[in-house]
Amino acid sequence: MKKDLSEITIEQICTMIDLLNPCIDDNLYVYDFENDFYYISSNALEKFPLPGKYFHNVVENHKIFVYPPDISELQNDLNMILSGEKDFHNLQYRWVDKKGNPVWINCRGHVVKNSEGKGTYMIGCINEIGAIRKADNVSGLLGESSLQTYLQEFYPPVKNGYLLRLGLDNFKEINEKLGIEYGDMILRKAAECISSCITPGQKLFRAVADEYIIVDFLGGTLDEARYLYNRIRQSISQFVENNQYEAVFTISGGILECSNIGNTSYSDIMKLSEFSLNEAKRQGRNRYYIFSHEDYEKFLKKKKLTRILRQAVRNDFEGFEAYFQPLFHADNNTIYGAETLMRFSTLEYGVISPVEFIPILEETGLIIPAGKWIMNQALAACKKIQQYIPNFRISINISYIQVMKSDIITEIASAITEHNVSPSNVVIELTESGLLESDSRFTRLWSILKDKGIRLALDDFGTGYSNFHYLYDLKPDIIKIDRSFTAKALTNEYDYNLLSLMSEMVHNLNLKICIEGIETEAEHVRILEIAPDYSQGFYFGKPCPYNQFEENFVLPKQNHN
Ligand code: C2E
Ligand code: CA
Ligand code: CA
Repeated sequence: MKKDLSEITIEQICTMIDLLNPCIDDNLYVYDFENDFYYISSNALEKFPLPGKYFHNVVENHKIFVYPPDISELQNDLNMILSGEKDFHNLQYRWVDKKGNPVWINCRGHVVKNSEGKGTYMIGCINEIGAIRKADNVSGLLGESSLQTYLQEFYPPVKNGYLLRLGLDNFKEINEKLGIEYGDMILRKAAECISSCITPGQKLFRAVADEYIIVDFLGGTLDEARYLYNRIRQSISQFVENNQYEAVFTISGGILECSNIGNTSYSDIMKLSEFSLNEAKRQGRNRYYIFSHEDYEKFLKKKKLTRILRQAVRNDFEGFEAYFQPLFHADNNTIYGAETLMRFSTLEYGVISPVEFIPILEETGLIIPAGKWIMNQALAACKKIQQYIPNFRISINISYIQVMKSDIITEIASAITEHNVSPSNVVIELTESGLLESDSRFTRLWSILKDKGIRLALDDFGTGYSNFHYLYDLKPDIIKIDRSFTAKALTNEYDYNLLSLMSEMVHNLNLKICIEGIETEAEHVRILEIAPDYSQGFYFGKPCPYNQFEENFVLPKQNHN
């Protein structure tokens, strides 16, 4: 026989709640409107600072354990329940646990009415949504799955507004140095700093690990997004200062305008915002970056190129080619040797510039096998050319990655032996910037190569700090003036005089100077005045494949002899 639910006494319900308490993780509750009385399962008392297992003055007493920013939302909903406007309560909001941390809960309850249709009590259940990863209890924010739900609620997609993805810089370091609990505290404080900067209606979620996402679907402009980021940055640095610099960290932000999202799926939106944040970090951290399709295309191309390069290296260097550019004795225009330059081409992209692919090879470490490969090409070519030009010298570029991460000395030495080329006919080109970044490894490499009789060229001189100390300390055989410097010297007097002085100084140290980037006869004539030892440039010959090099620079010489 069905009993009228309003006839069940509150006492009976409380007994039921107690009976069920051991069987469930969630918290059952009853709210008796007539007596303004609230009863909850004792589970809740373990975690939350409730006034007791039951209490009167229900709305007022909720203020003790409801997270303050969420009180008004709860009050509004309860008012609607009490006035009879609503008979089902379903609200996600935060309570505060005994440690003072906000905890997301979902509270549902249904109103039981008497025979006159008036609500007498509400019975329901409270569960912690953090437990099912909808929220994050470290930062006290809603988590990724809630973000997904929120974004998917908007269809058609919002055109105005933005997403700001924030990430703490050097957070890993804080965790490692100060411990995970301290790290959690920082995540919570950062969340507070961010929360304090957003305006009503903007939504804040915690994404993975040390990242937060602010969603502004209110039509916020780019300027507003920048302004918001800067305020957050200030708020974080204020916290660091107030915290006596115990943990020093900064925050980076990636701004993704809604106009860039279009119909993109949730996972793609996440990818774009992640890319934006990563760019901000890559550009030096503690700054923002605004998403651009052009940059993203470049990023995707680089990713693809990385895959292609890796495959090519595995495929016996398919697509790689060694090019050779002649170097001439400046005084009599006879050939001195050649610089070996790497080329890479694919069906899809055609020839790709080394300026684009060498950095990828370096980042991925693929420069180690590729560098070894080109060294063998270079030495084999040198050996062949020496049949015609016995004293021909071959220059090989070595990246600092090869120096730092491979046994380059042994590799050079064994390749030279294998190809039976005299060490004095091999020039190793190392850039000045590589030297600066490194340490004893370079100086060690340098002196061992020198001891073996291999020649050394300091490449790209004039682009970096141009530390003249190196010239004294390392005594490279050749100083190569970068073509950007040559170009400047050819267009303004000041740089021309500087280059002239450098040449004089290099000669005073008994070293040789090679000028790169001579493109015309007029330039050649002008450069000759500063008395370089060697010249290199399109005027003398562009880099070309071996056969062409042989045809243009090796065999004609043979015919002359
Ligand atoms: P780099 O070592 O300074 O090489 C000289 C660059 O100047 C070459 O560019 C060459 O083609 C270019 N060049 C020579 N003369 C002229 C000229 O008169 N006008 C103009 N506009 N350019 C001239 P490339 O071949 O594009 O190589 C660029 C850079 O890539 C090289 O600069 C070098 O840093 C790197 N690279 C090339 N091959 C290798 C390699 O096998 N290993 C390593 N580690 N790096 C390489
Ligand atoms: Ca070079
Ligand atoms: Ca150069």
